[in-house]
Amino acid sequence: MLKGKTAVVTGSTSGIGLGIAKSLAAQGANIVLNGFGDAEGPKAEVAALGVQVAYHGADMSKPSEIEAMIAYAEKTFGSVDILVNNAGIQYVARIENFPVERWDAVIAINLSSAFHATRVALPGMLARNWGRIINVASVHGLVGSAEKSAYVAAKHGIVGLTKVTALENATSGVTCNAICPGWVLTPLVQKQVDAKAQALGISDEEAKKHLLGEKEPSMQFTSPEELGALAVFFCSPAGNNIRGVAWNMDGGWTAQ
Ligand code: NAD
Repeated sequence: MLKGKTAVVTGSTSGIGLGIAKSLAAQGANIVLNGFGDAEGPKAEVAALGVQVAYHGADMSKPSEIEAMIAYAEKTFGSVDILVNNAGIQYVARIENFPVERWDAVIAINLSSAFHATRVALPGMLARNWGRIINVASVHGLVGSAEKSAYVAAKHGIVGLTKVTALENATSGVTCNAICPGWVLTPLVQKQVDAKAQALGISDEEAKKHLLGEKEPSMQFTSPEELGALAVFFCSPAGNNIRGVAWNMDGGWTAQ
């Protein structure tokens, strides 16, 4: 379905980003991976799906590196048709104890990076009159949780950015939507499981149940593959007129 299209997925050396990249690749899209850490393993996983894959190591907190990444993708594959703004970090502390430098980093990586990647990828999409911008927000784009001020602010911000991007391009073939996962068991969440296990003196399994029990009625983690399937749906012809939604996949978290 996506043969001949190119997708840039930010923060795709791990977790949800890698899951979405693989789902898009399974539909035939060429992939530009991004993120820190080992890139060779993720590149091989995507290449095994029979598509072309490239990697750019842009730091999503740096606008000039984001511009360079989009230019690299356009030069390598000829276009950026699908942009998945996924890179993100978490930091947990009460507001009065929240390090200013961590606030700035969370806002830069989880919110401003999506603005920068979108502003440089849009002209090409509009020129071809086809594009899909998918912002990986969170349930925290819809509701709050204590001790996550920067994350919740950034995620509410990216839901707003999603709506404006959708509206500004509503008469074109470029759509923009957000995905709002609940708990997904990635390294980002495993750190929170570890912190809970340590704080309460409980096992890893008990800490996972505790985390799910606080918020997620299904008592199940959403998987990167399930989120990838939603991204593929947004890219399908059925997604042509889905514009500006914030679609939660959260085991009932925000239904409460
Ligand atoms: P993860 O830690 O597994 O992956 C994060 C990715 O972002 C990695 O590839 C990492 O290298 C990259 N990254 C981090 N800082 C970067 C930077 N400055 N520049 C470039 N890349 C950078 O986390 P994840 O759980 O897969 O999270 C991915 C996205 O999903 C985030 O936006 C997160 O907020 C969101 N999300 C996660 C969950 C969850 O439960 N895991 C729930 C809702 C939303």
